[in-house]
Amino acid sequence: MGLDFDRIIVASHNEGKVREIRDLLRPYGLNVQSAAELGLPDVEETGATFIANAELKSIAAAKAAGLPALSDDSGLAVDALGGAPGIYSARWTEEDGGARNWALGMTRVQEAMEKSGRTETDAHFVCALSLAFPDGSARTYVGKVHGHIIWPARGNSGFGYDPIFLPQGFDQTFGEMDPDKKHAISHRADAFTQLICAEFDSRL
Ligand code: IMP
Repeated sequence: MGLDFDRIIVASHNEGKVREIRDLLRPYGLNVQSAAELGLPDVEETGATFIANAELKSIAAAKAAGLPALSDDSGLAVDALGGAPGIYSARWTEEDGGARNWALGMTRVQEAMEKSGRTETDAHFVCALSLAFPDGSARTYVGKVHGHIIWPARGNSGFGYDPIFLPQGFDQTFGEMDPDKKHAISHRADAFTQLICAEFDSRL
């Protein structure tokens, strides 16, 4: 099914994500606006899965704005931690009071891995990308990228856990990679490829 609109809302208040989604959508000639630019309220992520949380955000924004809306719920799953921080990836970066501190999140992952007593470093990022419409319908695509957690952190690019994630087959962490290189292989790129093939066929 091809999309027949020119304007889309990115239902996120996370600047890093909005920037990456804008970059990924640039070739498709869409006018992209963020939820913050439109003054839409942030939505509480009460779902039990990445997909449920992505749909909570995309459907709320599409209904409020009366426009198609795209949301991303994503996070880091570490094998030695049974998939944590998972859907709580953003929460693990929060200081008392709620401010996000990426360095704190990375330290918490490293400390939890050490405490687990397990030696494997395998991890993956997950991205659930949800496209919703003002009538409340939504279609959601899930992307992944596999790799390893390294310590100490390396690089200042990207956001979140990028400096401790070494993608499989590469010798640079996401924090050291040029953003274009990360965009080509990331969990978000994987979900985007699926969304674009399914939804934007008429624009390819
Ligand atoms: P949420 O989807 O906004 O609830 O938060 C996802 C959290 O997962 C972010 O705040 C980051 O901590 C982490 N995360 C998601 N995607 C990435 C990524 O591409 N790089 C690094 N961290 C990420």
